[in-house]
Amino acid sequence: MNCLFCNKNGPYNTIEHIVPESLGNKRLLLIEQICDSCQAYLGKEVERYVLQRSPIGAWRVFAGIETKNGKPPTFSFRQPNRNKGHLPDSHFANDDTISLSISEEGEHEFDIEDEQVLKAVADGTKTEFRLVLTPKMLHMMGRFLGKVGLEILARDHPDFARSDSFDKMRRFVRFGEPIAFLWPIFYGSKGASPAISPCEILVMDSNAEHNCPYTLCIFVLGNEHWITCLNDPYPPPDIRKSFPDIALKLITY
Ligand SMILES: [Zn+2]
Repeated sequence: MNCLFCNKNGPYNTIEHIVPESLGNKRLLLIEQICDSCQAYLGKEVERYVLQRSPIGAWRVFAGIETKNGKPPTFSFRQPNRNKGHLPDSHFANDDTISLSISEEGEHEFDIEDEQVLKAVADGTKTEFRLVLTPKMLHMMGRFLGKVGLEILARDHPDFARSDSFDKMRRFVRFGEPIAFLWPIFYGSKGASPAISPCEILVMDSNAEHNCPYTLCIFVLGNEHWITCLNDPYPPPDIRKSFPDIALKLITY
């Protein structure tokens, strides 16, 4: 079968992890559907970014998911000093000097490098930290969610996943085209305190179950839901009605 993303016939020497191993995935695999070069590109350019910079990466620490090499996870809020490429990758309101880690005993630790911030935390004037979603982050998260969603779809329905309904998402995931495009993401959290669990992914086919004509990728991590529509970047906002128990917001700029 040809590669899901570039349509070339392999080579297939490595096994694709639908969700990165660094998010604890050992079960969701795809064999001979993603060529070596697409796997290498997506791992390096998309997954690495998302794990290092986005809220999905921060969740690894809260959930205590060890790295591929069995090390405790860490996450830094740091954003680049200068923007590279087409989309802004840093934001003035982001708390740049914080990093998160988890100790061997399973305790969460905040490491604050800035003296002033540390003082503000100590005297109670600063009570929360902000990780600001930059346009670049949204672009990358859209590609990441699209990759996971298309791959789940390919595992269950390989021909359907290769149909032209998904060509737009395919190009966006693999080549980042259209350049600087932000594939809309619906986001919502459910439950007050984080119910820590490994991530859970669901691809909803055009089905009757939720009475929804769109193919959605629903990515759940902790108590956060990230939802993308795989076959249409502009689904009607009504899609939210399919999830009555989550207050979904459309993230956009
Ligand atoms: Zn390929």
